[in-house]
Amino acid sequence: MEASLVFRLHERGPEVVREVLLERGWEEYDEEEEDWNLYWRGSAFRNSEYLNLMPWQRLNHHPKTVGITRKDCLARNLRRMRTTFGSSLYDFSPTAFILPNDYTRFLSEYNKVTRGPSAYWICKPVDLSRGRGIFIFEDMRELVYDCPVIIQCYISNPLLISGYKFDLRIYVCVKSFHPLTVYIHQEGLVRFATEKYNLSSLHNLYAHLTNTSINKFSPFYKSEKERVGRGCKWTMSKFRHFLQSQDINELLLWQRINNIVTLTLLTIAPTVPSCPNCVELLGFDILIDAEFKPWLLEVNYSPALTLDCQADITVKRGLIGDLIDLMNYTLTDSLRERAFQRQGYNKPCIHAQHASPVSITVLKETKYQKRRNQSLQTLPKIKTHHHPEKINQRQHAFAAVYQRHLPPVHLIKKYASKVVAANKSDTDDRTLNLILGPQSRTDVSVVNRQTWPDRAPWLTDNRSLRVSEVTNYDDTETEAEADVSSSLPEIPHRGLGFRREKLPDIYSGIRRVRKERTAALNRQHVPPLRVGDFIRTFPFNAATLKASQHTLDVKKVIHELHKLTAQLASRKKLKRREEEERDGEEDFDSLLWGPKDPPLLSHCVKPF
Ligand code: ADP
Repeated sequence: MEASLVFRLHERGPEVVREVLLERGWEEYDEEEEDWNLYWRGSAFRNSEYLNLMPWQRLNHHPKTVGITRKDCLARNLRRMRTTFGSSLYDFSPTAFILPNDYTRFLSEYNKVTRGPSAYWICKPVDLSRGRGIFIFEDMRELVYDCPVIIQCYISNPLLISGYKFDLRIYVCVKSFHPLTVYIHQEGLVRFATEKYNLSSLHNLYAHLTNTSINKFSPFYKSEKERVGRGCKWTMSKFRHFLQSQDINELLLWQRINNIVTLTLLTIAPTVPSCPNCVELLGFDILIDAEFKPWLLEVNYSPALTLDCQADITVKRGLIGDLIDLMNYTLTDSLRERAFQRQGYNKPCIHAQHASPVSITVLKETKYQKRRNQSLQTLPKIKTHHHPEKINQRQHAFAAVYQRHLPPVHLIKKYASKVVAANKSDTDDRTLNLILGPQSRTDVSVVNRQTWPDRAPWLTDNRSLRVSEVTNYDDTETEAEADVSSSLPEIPHRGLGFRREKLPDIYSGIRRVRKERTAALNRQHVPPLRVGDFIRTFPFNAATLKASQHTLDVKKVIHELHKLTAQLASRKKLKRREEEERDGEEDFDSLLWGPKDPPLLSHCVKPF
């Protein structure tokens, strides 16, 4: 089925993506091909690339995620969330100052802490990665910078393995921001420093930084290091083994890491535009301190996918394979269907039951298109207007794409509550004017394929449409429209209803009560709990599923996280008490999950 899928890699990389996709029978894009199913790039896509996406095309980045992937933006956003929701949950990132703006604040904090036991700071350029430009200092006089930097409180008591500092690279896949759907890969990486940790040698980066890009140049990189071994990486499985061998209960640790991921994503989720054809693979860097508290150091936009050692090969190949599975490519995405679509809409249809919702919409559109062509004389034309105040190029592009995907106008008129022939002077009976909102693209959204798949079946791409700017809708069908309407075959979709009461009879002839429909809708949206080694961590229960269905209810999600944390804390207490009483027959994990092995990182996911 995947034989005709085509991938496109920007600047020929990363190699592991190519290898995995070729192994699965994908073909690599070449310039002549001009079309593709997956476009993968390390850097951000342009706005136009999102706007011109076709239904079968996917991108490996969501737009506007910089709010967590740039060090200064992340610090700012976490500070904002801490102010809004309190520091009891948002206590997982080291205190940070963005310089030069926060210089005075930093100075006063510096003066405060230097009166106590010694404090250390780490200075990082805001938009560099791989350890470039980072230094650690104790004395303010050592702070010299020539570009925007963030100063973070240095976590000076990291958990060490045989004296070596390490951090965790957790791979997170945001399958969708609307509704927020997050998976964490069970197999991450543990990245070690290559010299023993020592606070009296702050300038020794091989002892204080855990970046592979730095440590692979260390004189000790290849030597056998006590317990750590050669190189500077472990797989997460090896780390879990280590934790178990030390009799360390890992459950609470993973719970906290899950929470960090969710809470961090919540800072941007409401502002990321809906783009169902995108997926995001993020690398969360987590440092664990000597008290087993995990700290978020940063979020990587394009986590490194180079294969430097065996741990890399094991982890990253599996990761990419699982990511492709998570993207759930179907017949819809195949090039054959596209060719079919281009060649006049009259090739045999793919059986609807084998097609994903996307392909069903494509087929419907082709039917509509055919009908529309046949009835050109009777159907009104669609004309898109832009709000005169804030017209810009982006809206033009947006409207242009929209126009290509609009359903026949009589259906819009019939089921959209406020659609109208506006600007009467500019219209005749056969013209329907859609006025697109003057706001940004996000504001324009009302209905899209992702948030209301069964309400916008005619949307063959990922964009959203707002027609509420249009007023004075004349609800009555014209004779011509009625004619066309009655001659149309029964279409198995749920109508264009922006207004629930107007849901059409053409939907299987069954009118369901609103409650039942909502329940069905909810069921439909439950994403799989596990795909390969990706475990769904959000939504993690029925309440968070509901809170994320339409507009993300951040407050509700935070409330659920509070509840979950409290629940785990009380179970931990219970466990301790039990252990004290009878040396613990049942372990802590089984209190939550029963006697079987708890799935790593999925402890907070309850079936629903
Ligand atoms: P980069 O994007 O350059 O990799 P990071 O923020 O990930 O920047 O920092 C690089 C390394 O420095 C981390 O992997 C970690 O080992 C160390 N580090 C960063 N911030 C801190 C901190 N606040 N406390 C302790 N160590 C830190």
